[in-house]
Amino acid sequence: TLSERLGATLANLRGKGRLSDADIDTTAREIRIALLEADVALPVVRGFIARVKERAKGVEVSGALNPAQQVVKIVNDELVTVLGGETRRIRFAKEPPSVVMLAGLQGSGKTTLAGKLAHWLKGQGHAPLLVACDLQRPNAVTQLQIVGERAGVTTFAPEPGNGVGDPVDVARRGVAHAREKMFDIVIIDTAGRLGVDEELMRQASDIREATRPDETLFVVDAMIGQDAVATAEAFRDGVGFTGVVLTKLDGDARGGAALSVREVTGQPILFASSGEKLADFDVFHPDRMASRILGMGDLLTLIEQAESAFDQEQAAATAAKMSTGELSLEDFLEQMLAIRKMGPIGNILGMLPGANSGQMKEALAQVDDRRLDRLQAIIRGMTPAERADPKMINGSRRLRIANGSGVSVNEVNELVKNFFEARKQMKQMAGQFGFGGAARSAT
Ligand code: GDP
Ligand code: MG
Repeated sequence: TLSERLGATLANLRGKGRLSDADIDTTAREIRIALLEADVALPVVRGFIARVKERAKGVEVSGALNPAQQVVKIVNDELVTVLGGETRRIRFAKEPPSVVMLAGLQGSGKTTLAGKLAHWLKGQGHAPLLVACDLQRPNAVTQLQIVGERAGVTTFAPEPGNGVGDPVDVARRGVAHAREKMFDIVIIDTAGRLGVDEELMRQASDIREATRPDETLFVVDAMIGQDAVATAEAFRDGVGFTGVVLTKLDGDARGGAALSVREVTGQPILFASSGEKLADFDVFHPDRMASRILGMGDLLTLIEQAESAFDQEQAAATAAKMSTGELSLEDFLEQMLAIRKMGPIGNILGMLPGANSGQMKEALAQVDDRRLDRLQAIIRGMTPAERADPKMINGSRRLRIANGSGVSVNEVNELVKNFFEARKQMKQMAGQFGFGGAARSAT
């Protein structure tokens, strides 16, 4: 597995301070082999590796992780990004009924999915109607009806005894029926073949043309691995789709198909299906899929823990310094950088206790991210000794710092003055809130 492969490679990285080009290359080679083993298609692997390398080169070494952990984190982050970042939600029509059409190979899980999706939508207060447009196999309509009954929803099907009907006509009448009977979502189940088939492609394309779905979902069995690329391309060109559903994730497939389909078609993966029961269904979670493909969920959990422990340590150390009034400009800069990683500064400070008091409010109003950039530049322009002991920053030093960081001497003066003021206030506040005691016992 990738975990084992990386484990061996990463053991060599342990203890080194920074990622070298050679480290990155070696690790990339292992990841490449491992992704191929997870059944990701070769061209997709190539593109992915190239991006990971690029990202690894620009990375800043964080104090929280060792280089080995850092590589894993970069790979994982990139994978989550490729898989879609945040989940995209299903789109509905402005005016009901919304139409969702399912397309995919035979056995990919369309009919099963129709039931699950209907069940899920019903749970959210919708009134879905299933429409049986797989008239290819004798039992397909009955299968959908059974699935519909289990999900507690209505199924629209061609009348029995009419011989083989026209699926496009059934689809059209199904949508009309939904409109008339106030169903707000139509789920169209279609036929598929074991292989890509011209005639059935055209049929699916005609159904799409006739019903103009709000979502056309390409349903793909996660077990087909690399074949997912050719199949997805055929459906993209022959029918077209707006989203992907992965099925049979309860099997032992590592999920390479997810990465391939997503990369090749650029369409989002909306749902994941993982069993034969109605409830074995969820919106797609890129982060979970990423750790499945990499096969190292444990490692990722450890990394998260390491990062959060590091943050806590730093916070405790700073709190201790705050309470004794020993805070240096170096600490101040570090804190600032840590806080900025969390988002716009105003939001974060606004969550602090006492943020609504008059004094705090006034202070908050003056903080903005651009100003932080300038403060950061000034502090970076100081020597370590100056940061540790700001009292030594005399007039000539202020001039040098101002010139070095491209600001006026006034701004440097203001920063130093505010810093001493803040340190004094923090000391008082720490006493007030009891930070001091907590921090001391934590260190
Ligand atoms: P269709 O031909 O695309 O309509 O596929 P079906 O819905 O009929 O599914 C084909 C087979 O796969 C059936 O035996 C289903 O019970 C099974 N199946 C569908 N989805 C899943 C799934 O997520 N997990 C498992 N284990 N089986 C599934
Ligand atoms: Mg079916």
